[in-house]
Amino acid sequence: MIDPDFFPEGALVGVLTAQPLDRLLDYKAPVGGCQLGAFVEVPLGPRKVLGVVWGKGRGDFDIKRVRSVIRVLDVAPMRGEMRDFLRRAADYTLTPMSAMLRLATRAPGLGDAPSMRKVYRMGHGNVSRETEARGRVMAALRDYGGLSFTLGELSDMAGVTTSVVKGLVKQGAVVEEDSPRDLPFARLDPAYGGKALTADQAAGARALASGVRAQKYATTLLRGVTGSGKTEVYLEAVAEALKIGRQGLVMLPEIALTAEFLTRVEARFGTRPAEWHSGVTMTERRRVWKMVGEGEAQLVVGARSALFLPYRDLGLIIVDEEHDTSYKQEDGVLYNARDMAVLRASICGAQVVLASATPSLETWANAEAGKYNRIDLASRYGPAVMPAMRAIDMRDESLPSNRWISPTLQRAVEARRARGEQSLLFINRRGYAPVTICRACGYQIGCDHCDARMVEHRFLKRLVCHQCGETKPMPDVCPSCEVEGKLAAVGPGVERLSEEAAQVFPEARIATLSSDMFGSARALKAEIEGIAAGAADIIIGTQLVAKGHNFPLLTLVGVIDADLGLQGSDLRAAERTFQLMRQVAGRAGRAEKRGETMLQTFQPEHPVIRAILAGDEEGFWSAEADGRRHAGVPPYGRLAGIILSSPDAQEAFDFGMELARRDGPLRQVGAQVFGPAPAPIARVRGRHRVRLLVKAPKGVALQGAVAAWIAQMSPSNRLRLAVDIDPQTFY
Ligand code: ADP
Ligand code: ZN
Repeated sequence: MIDPDFFPEGALVGVLTAQPLDRLLDYKAPVGGCQLGAFVEVPLGPRKVLGVVWGKGRGDFDIKRVRSVIRVLDVAPMRGEMRDFLRRAADYTLTPMSAMLRLATRAPGLGDAPSMRKVYRMGHGNVSRETEARGRVMAALRDYGGLSFTLGELSDMAGVTTSVVKGLVKQGAVVEEDSPRDLPFARLDPAYGGKALTADQAAGARALASGVRAQKYATTLLRGVTGSGKTEVYLEAVAEALKIGRQGLVMLPEIALTAEFLTRVEARFGTRPAEWHSGVTMTERRRVWKMVGEGEAQLVVGARSALFLPYRDLGLIIVDEEHDTSYKQEDGVLYNARDMAVLRASICGAQVVLASATPSLETWANAEAGKYNRIDLASRYGPAVMPAMRAIDMRDESLPSNRWISPTLQRAVEARRARGEQSLLFINRRGYAPVTICRACGYQIGCDHCDARMVEHRFLKRLVCHQCGETKPMPDVCPSCEVEGKLAAVGPGVERLSEEAAQVFPEARIATLSSDMFGSARALKAEIEGIAAGAADIIIGTQLVAKGHNFPLLTLVGVIDADLGLQGSDLRAAERTFQLMRQVAGRAGRAEKRGETMLQTFQPEHPVIRAILAGDEEGFWSAEADGRRHAGVPPYGRLAGIILSSPDAQEAFDFGMELARRDGPLRQVGAQVFGPAPAPIARVRGRHRVRLLVKAPKGVALQGAVAAWIAQMSPSNRLRLAVDIDPQTFY
């Protein structure tokens, strides 16, 4: 019988490469032939590039000039399901296939032959003559609990020369050994370490497990307040996938959360799973990629890009904190990992679990409409109860200017301190102060490349643009009027709040947590563990602390500015504020003591603030849903954003005008275009930005219409056009 998926030597094949070309390239199959989906190396001009055999060649190219595939790589061919997924994800996001292939091959050295190499791990010998450098090597090894590293990785991690490591090998404190390059992962044991579940939890776990056993696609919203045991429940679904021999993927929104999570997986299944995110070494990445493809990694814990790994048989995808905005990739390929997880699962017959205490309105609406199943965990596990919520009406508080901790909040913190409990003061703003103004002329220091104000970071002793990352030293004189000593900070950021707290609570131990204050995920993890163990009385933090960390001694959360998120004109401003406030509140009172959350607000009667205080989630969602339905916006309508950018503002604007004029293909499907308008941040990195917004009724084939619409015009070399399907942000 002839295998239709096999191409014998010399047959024409069409190869997809990761090069930015918008077509497949024809090659001849190499000696020994090649399989459909095979990863191959092909010549392209003077270079050799990675590609995938995507189908038959087109044969419309001079056959004498068609070159041969150089070799077939020693990795599992890309499965039909994966090719399908990439194709449909490309269609959905209007992304070229080459970019999708890049996402799917983000591991170095895929083509290298399996071989041995030297690796280094902790030995039993003692370190003689403990120097600081030697100490750092040992600390790095300890941090990763028994893992092995290459010489380069270990010396980089510890910031020492390779000779330091070699010296430790001589002493026996570090062991050098030969190891195959890519080892399979240890088997997870589904019967190890399960907990006795509450009735609620057990019912949820049973429902998820039977979905996994069915090996068919379905998505389930797993809703429950922080601490209700969602993780325990979905780990039972993972156990079921392991039992039937299918792979699992758990996506987390934040790398800082993985360490804690991996420990939980180890406690539940006896060993650690594969890990995939930007903090993982290149060698380990390659190992994960290959082992996932061979079915030798049963469970992957990772960031959104873990969705593009070549699973051999993916049966379950968990999207933890599914409402988190970091699931939306905002540069390069603009995709929402939550939605792509649903797409991938629907192709490979897998279950999706979307876990959250505060689901996105999209997910809530899909569950309402019956498209998703829904499991609710009603209460917190054990004695912990939801914190009491109250507003502090800032109109009634007397506070000097440049102070943000109200007397009421101050008293509440002091009461906690007296009892040896922790308080969290939350402000969702990095840096010292959002605005630096000259008191002589009124000038505000802005970024030279963006239409954004520079934010003072005292910790770094610099001004930072939160748009482009540009920094400059804090000047002594006003750049505009040149008067000296009149530059003043306006408004609070997390660093300034720390400073105030240090004055207001001079005796307290204060820990500040903001993403830009820690050089590495490891340093942050260490800080968080210290705090959880009681190393601070007061925690000052940004959004970073809202995400899933466990602080058992914490009983008070004070939100410094609950109105902050409500000011934007963003479609999701209310939703985001509601979620964030609920998440932050969820940090308090996780152990035996009841927590309390206080919101400082100037508008306690605002409907969103009232819904937060009342804890009326269903009420909030249905009111928000009504508003969106009425306006015909997501999830009850569809949106696509077009962002044009160019060094020349006029060019971007003219192009946008012309696009808006030629809106025939959009009107045909009942879609409307708005704009062009300068984007809310009209200049980023020296490029002027113009936006158009396409709005369509739900159910229309929006992507096709948008593709046909923009295909009418070709941008110049200087002009960039990006399409953002289902945009989450509008800047
Ligand atoms: P969530 O994911 O909803 O925030 P977790 O699964 O993290 O909740 O549970 C919160 C805490 O309660 C964790 O420390 C967890 O181990 C514990 N816990 C939850 N359910 C149980 C249970 N049935 N038995 C023992 N401990 C549990
Ligand atoms: Zn900038």
